[in-house]
Formats: sequence, C-alpha cells, structure tokens
Amino acid sequence: MISVDIITQVLNAIGVDELIKLTADLVQINSVWDPVAGTSEQSAAEYVARWATQQGFDVQLEEVAPLRPNVLVRWNASPGERHLMFEGHTDVVTPGDVSMWHYDPFGAAIVGGRMYGRGTNDTKGNLAAMLTAMAALKNSGVRLAGRITGGVLCDEEDQMLGVRDFIRRGHADTVTGAIICEPQDGLICTSQKGALRARYTVFGRMSHGAMPLSGLNTAPAIARLIDGLQALERKAVSQFGPDEHLGWPSLTPTVIQAPSSGAPQLNVIPGEAVVLVDIRTIPDQSHGEIIEALATLADAVKRRVQEEYARYDGLLGLRRQHDLHIELEILTDRPCTRTDHNDPVVQAAAWATRYITHHEPVYAGVPGATDGTFLWALRNIPIVTMGAGDRQVPHQVDEWVDLDQLVETARIYALAALHYLPPGKHGG
Ligand SMILES: [Zn+2]
Repeated sequence: MISVDIITQVLNAIGVDELIKLTADLVQINSVWDPVAGTSEQSAAEYVARWATQQGFDVQLEEVAPLRPNVLVRWNASPGERHLMFEGHTDVVTPGDVSMWHYDPFGAAIVGGRMYGRGTNDTKGNLAAMLTAMAALKNSGVRLAGRITGGVLCDEEDQMLGVRDFIRRGHADTVTGAIICEPQDGLICTSQKGALRARYTVFGRMSHGAMPLSGLNTAPAIARLIDGLQALERKAVSQFGPDEHLGWPSLTPTVIQAPSSGAPQLNVIPGEAVVLVDIRTIPDQSHGEIIEALATLADAVKRRVQEEYARYDGLLGLRRQHDLHIELEILTDRPCTRTDHNDPVVQAAAWATRYITHHEPVYAGVPGATDGTFLWALRNIPIVTMGAGDRQVPHQVDEWVDLDQLVETARIYALAALHYLPPGKHGG
C-alpha cells in the first residue's frame, strides 16, 4: 500500500499552469514532417530537451534521420528491477486546408475549457502530461524504486522510425512496462489491432480500346480479386469476430488503379493494374495464414481468368496468348498486441485511474497501430495506451483537448508510475 501522504506529495507537485503552458508551447511549434515546407520534429524536440534539462533530467537528443531527433528524458530514481517508459511523439499530421479551421492550427487558443490546435489531442497534450508527471515525481522528493524513461519520439504518424531507432540502439532492452500516451479519452487500452498492407499487381497486355482482342485486359482479374477479398473478410468475420475490445477484423481494398502508373485513357486498355489492400486484424488471427490466403487468391484468380479468356477465345475462334500474371507484395506487417490485465503496468494504470476518477477503469482497444506496437512486438514489452482526448478527434480540423481531462491525465500518469515503482525502503 502506498501511503496517502506520499500520494498527496506527488499530486501536489503537479504544476497545472506548467502543463498548460508546455502543451501550448509545443502546439505552437509546427512539427509536421514536411521537407518541402521545411518543417520537422527538430524544434519541438529541442524545446522538450531544454525544458527537461531545466527540470534536472538526464536528457539526450538522438538523430534518427536528418532534422528528425528522438529525445530521451531519463531519471534513475533508485536501483530497482522495474523500468517504466512513458512514450509520446512530437510529430503531428498536416492541418490540411487551413481555411476549414475556426482556430489557428498552431495557435493553441483556449476557449471554453478546451485548447484548440493540431496536436492538442494527438498527442502534444499527452506528451506534456507525461513530462509534467515525471517532473512532479522527481520534484516531490519521493524516491521511486526503479527508473523512468520518457521516450519523446519522432515519426509516429508515418513509418515509426523514432521508436524503431529507440529499440535498435538498445534503449528498450531494460524497459519492463510502457505507457503509450495517446488520446484514448481516459480508457485503458490493452490491445491494438494488427495491420497488414498488401499490393496486388496484375499484368496483362496493353492495347487499343477499339481492338481489345489484340491485348489482354486486367479488369476481369481485378474484379475477381475484389470478390475474393470480400469472401476472405466474410470468412474472418464469422471465424474470429468480433473481439471484445477491438471489434471486427477487416480486409479492405482501398486503392484500385489502372493503369498502375501514368495517365488513364478511355481508349487504352492498361497493361498493368494495382489493388491495394488494408487489412486490420484482431489477436486470434494469424498474419502468416492471411498472407498465404492472399497468395492462394492470386493463383486462383489467375487460373480462373485465363480459363475464361480461353473459353471466350474458343467461342470467337481466336488464338491469343493468355499470359496474365498476378504479383503479391506485403508492404506492412504489424502484429496485434494484447497485454494481460494482470500485468503490473495495467494494474498500475487501473489503480491510478480509480484513485483519480473514483470510477472503475474501462478497458478498450486501439483500432490503429502506435509506437507501442513495436515495443510489444520487438521487445515483448507490456504496454498500455491511455491519455486525454476524444478518440474521434485526431487528424480532424479544429482538433482540441479538454484541459480538465488533460490535468486529470497528468495526475493519472504520475500515480501510475508511483504504483509501478512503489517507494519501498528508499521511500521519501
Ligand atoms: Zn498519436
């Protein structure tokens, strides 16, 4: 049991004004990765590094790619086996058409208890909350049993280069639990959907639209592929879904493009076409089996379309070469994650949420991948994803975060760390 005195000591050390200011300052730094416009995570990372140095943390800036650093904010509270990581990213997605916004996307305007701007919700507010929580723990004088690392990482929104670099350099090797600071509206997310992204390329033979029999159209194969993908989805849905927290698995053809490159023309049969497939999985599904099914589908479609062409040509008395060919490429393979509810990091998150909100915690799942996916998949680190902000708001115009919820989140983060690294004989 952690004494009420210690809990109060930690909570009293949380600087509410500092949290709001830190959030606003970060939102006002445009950290969209846009080499053409000349913006990147660099300035936001440098700002965090300066701030954390002033708080007395051990701070390191590590270049992941040019103008794209990670920041490591570390505190070795005392010797201990546990090593908690807080993870938050510095990059934000583009504001899109700025004229659609009612507020300056980089203004951090506060109206009616909300702060507006790109990143307020995803995830600079939560990044500020985790840093404020770490500072509170450190400044409270309570001696935690173990270490905390704040991973302030770049490129979460795209290739997740930041977390992969963090892992590659060995920083995750000793981490025993991680809190992924993302907008989950106070929910405790212990699972995440997996993602498989695939590309089918269908090779036929280009010809004039007025002389289709001198070419080999890819369109029938595209149609059969889409039918086949739908059948695979229906099979997965009846076999596996829905998952209690993650909902239904899905297999979605998102891009159907012919020709695969260059300008389409109505009177030209394209020689090459592509179908991109976005597959989202739930924990019981096997990615290996799905990839096998995708490959089997390509072979079956090829054979069937070749037969159809042969039959048709027979009817017309033609002799064409039916050298139709379908290639499958897997572009992304990110596994599902699921952390046991009895894991100490989940228990810490649940205890802290209960203590601060006076409600039983609600468990949920994350529909997309996060940096946590890699920590879980590559280093078996138990992860829990939680933070302030409506779950539908990320990447929208007029992005916002509720400031009361943000303060509550900083308090929950601080107590979760306290519970995970309880001060024992070293206690303050
Ligand atoms: Zn995010």
